[in-house]
Order: sequence, then structure tokens, then C-alpha cells
Amino acid sequence: MIQKILQKQQDFFNSNKTKDVSFRIEQLKLFKKVLKENEDSLYKAIYQDFGKSEFETYASELSLIYHELNSFIKNIKKWSRPTKVSTGFVNFPAKSYIIPEPLGVTLVIGAWNYPYQISLIPALTALAAGNTVILKPSELPANTSKIMAKIINDNFPSEFFCVIEGGVKETTDLLEHRFDKIFFTGSVPVGKIIYQAAAKHLTPVTLELGGKSPTFVFGDVDIKMTVKRIVWAKFLNAGQTCIAPDYILVEKAIEKSFLEEMKREIEEHYKNNEDIDDNYTRIINTNNYDRLSKLIDPDKIYCGGNTNKDNRFISPTILQNISFDDEIMKDEIFGPILPVISFSNLDETIKMVKDRPKPLSCYIYSKNKKTIDKLLKEISFGGGAINDSLMHITNDNLPFGGVGHSGIGSYHGKYGFNAFSHYKSILDKPFWLETPLKYSPYSIKKLKMLKWLFE
Ligand code: NAD
Repeated sequence: MIQKILQKQQDFFNSNKTKDVSFRIEQLKLFKKVLKENEDSLYKAIYQDFGKSEFETYASELSLIYHELNSFIKNIKKWSRPTKVSTGFVNFPAKSYIIPEPLGVTLVIGAWNYPYQISLIPALTALAAGNTVILKPSELPANTSKIMAKIINDNFPSEFFCVIEGGVKETTDLLEHRFDKIFFTGSVPVGKIIYQAAAKHLTPVTLELGGKSPTFVFGDVDIKMTVKRIVWAKFLNAGQTCIAPDYILVEKAIEKSFLEEMKREIEEHYKNNEDIDDNYTRIINTNNYDRLSKLIDPDKIYCGGNTNKDNRFISPTILQNISFDDEIMKDEIFGPILPVISFSNLDETIKMVKDRPKPLSCYIYSKNKKTIDKLLKEISFGGGAINDSLMHITNDNLPFGGVGHSGIGSYHGKYGFNAFSHYKSILDKPFWLETPLKYSPYSIKKLKMLKWLFE
């Protein structure tokens, strides 16, 4: 079946239909319409999968998809045009330009935690850049995978855009085939599998991976506002966010007041951690529930720590007296548990962060420009924010992606368009002039002339 769809997509791509920008705009508009008409089913499916509320689904998934769609519809004409660049004297009187061209048949593999935006934004970006797409959403949220397959496969021809559902087996089968681009979002270990499979066919990849994102809190901050922003960012989607603050590094002098304010803020917004809040997302499955529950060391709970396996509930939990050697500091947490490490020596703390794989994000809460600049200069990470967390993802003028272990490449807006395009460079020369310099017979005089020109 895969081979048949791939061949159909290859033929469709070769027909040049997707190179027509008005065709792409039409398809993106159709997608927007289909999404709008099916919003209720999308909300229902994600609620069934992991209790995500309509508000959070709109705010953290659909709004971003609509935003990208609008931006593509508005900009792809401009982004698809050749751009002129200067040529230089060597090729006078030629002109030079760069033609963006689609790569071909692409594969998008999604993660489960924001199942809509993580699958659909890369897929729509690939279409906007003129490619065909096979989308393989994560199988863990089974209802969201099913609804995406339905609305896409019912409304788009499979030679242009289709969803193939499945888990490890189906993804492994897909990876046997040659694609012109693979865009993967998921964990670091699976990212390595994807990279290896792509290498067999020399297929370019974008890998959007995870990691432990540090959050620095310095003594000079507005504690109330800092805590408000951190608590929202950490417990959105019950901490199952790739760019969530993974752990806090707080300056020792304000540790106590910071922790007290964290507790107060959590109690205000999460109804004293009761297990009844319909606006609070559940853990995706029992495996992850068990993994997370084991990370809560009862001796280190500052607040929270309530769990209920029946509905995979874990309350917003703060752990205190944590060091870099604790179990919770080994891997990405990806759940509603926030360890707090206090520090008094900044250089030592920076070293601890730098000794670990490069994170996807880093957040710095401080009013001191020197301190902020020091951290920005010393620590390598994908992207982040000063005095905020998560919100950088909403600005599509910023490339979104990791570095080192947190990923390869980036997307959102024009950066996504670039990720799914090849930039073909052309030198375009008329016939009326040619200097003899590069032609044999060579001579000392010609070499001198060359040296004079270049040095
Ligand atoms: P995952 O790596 O387990 O799964 C991702 C996709 O890979 C799924 O579609 C799954 O079916 C497929 N897959 C799983 N095992 C496979 C295998 N052995 N061979 C081939 N395919 C396989 O990741 P996940 O649990 O869905 O997502 C969580 C991870 O994703 C976290 O690490 C998180 O940080 C990361 N993430 C990153 C971003 C980002 O934008 N950088 C966004 C969301 C999530």
C-alpha cells in the first residue's frame, strides 16, 4: 500500500501541479475550511484521549495552526518568487538569482503531546512549499490520530496529502522507502532511528526533539509575575510540553519566597490540587503515569504530589532540595513535576548546565542585562525567552527548533517554508561579452592579472 501511495505522490509531484502557487493557496484555504467545520470533533477527540480542555486545545494548538495557515496564504506567493542577488565582477555582465523549489514527496511524523499542531503545522508547511505529504501522527492519542486521518483523507486526494495511521511497525515500514524530506517530532532515541533510516537514502531531515530546559530565576525579579508565568508554562498540558521549564535554578537568596509564591499560585489556579479540575490535562497513558509517579520522591515534595492512577491524574508538584545528581535530573521530565535547585555560584551552575546535552529551551528571569547577556552568550539552546516561558513559540518570525541533542533544523513561518524547499542558485549570462582570461593558453601575465583581481 505504501509503495502505491508513494508512486502516486511521485507522479503527482512530477506533474508540476504543486508548483503552481495558486493551487497551493486553494488547498490551504480548503484545509482551513475543513478544520473549522470539524472543530467540535477535534475538541471531543483530544478530550477523550487525555482530558485536554477546549480552551487549551484552541489556545495551544488550533490558534497556532490557523495563524500559520493565514501566514502561508498571505506570503507564499512572495516566498516562492526567485530573489535576485549581486553577481560580482568575475561574471560581469551576468545576473544571479535564487529559485525556491519544493523538495518532492515528504514524510511528517508527529509526537503525541500537542497532537494537532505538531502533526498539522509541518504538514501544512510542506504543502505550502509545494510538496506532497504523507502524515503519520502519533498513535498514542488514538482518537486525535483517527480524526486527523478522517478529515484529511476524506477531503484531499491521497496523491497530494494523506494520513497513514500507526505506531512503530507502520513507521518502520514507511522509513524503508525513499522520501525527499522527513520531518520528525519526538524523542531523542527515536530521532536517532529516523536519522539513520533517512541516511540510507540521503534524505534530508528536520528533527524536532526534546531535552531538559533550564529556567534561571535571579534574586532581582518580580517574584509574583515570575511565578505566574512559570506556573502557567509548566502545568499547561500537565507539563507534557517539549519546551516546558524542566527544572528551576533559583538564586539561594530568594528560594524561600519563590517556593512560597509557587505554592500560593498553584493553589489559586489548580483548586488546591483537587482531582476534579476539568481544565487540567491528564497524563497520556499508564506507562507515562507510572514513570512520572516514580519520579516523585516523597521526602522532597514541597507541594502537590497527589496522584490517581484510575484517571491518570498527577497534581502540579514542586520538589525542593534537589541537586543535579537526583534521579529526576537524569532525563526530560515531560509531566507536571517541577524540581527546584537553588544556587549561589552562577559560574558553577552554568557549568552544570553546559555539561549536559544542549536543551531545546532556556528561560532567564532577571532584570540585570549583564547577567542575561552572560547566560545568552555561554549556554547553547534551541530558543527561549527572557522573563517569560513558552511564549516564544507563538512568534513565527522566530525559528523554532533545537540544537545538538534537542534537534536539527527549525520551522514556523518562513523558516518552515525554507525547511521544505531547495534554494536553486542560478547564474544567468548573455552572449555578448567574454574575457579571454580563464582560457588557455595560460600565461604568467594572465596569472598576475588573476592575482591582482582577487587579492
Ligand atoms: P516518540 O519519539 O516516542 O514518538 C514520536 C513518533 O515516532 C510517533 O509517531 C511514534 O509512532 C514514532 N515512533 C516511536 N517509536 C518508534 C520507533 N522505534 N521507530 C520508528 N518510529 C517510532 O515521542 P513522543 O513520546 O510521541 O513525544 C515525546 C517527545 O517528543 C519528548 O521528548 C518531547 O520533548 C518531544 N517533542 C518535541 C517537540 C519539538 O517541537 N521539539 C514537540 C513535541 C514533543
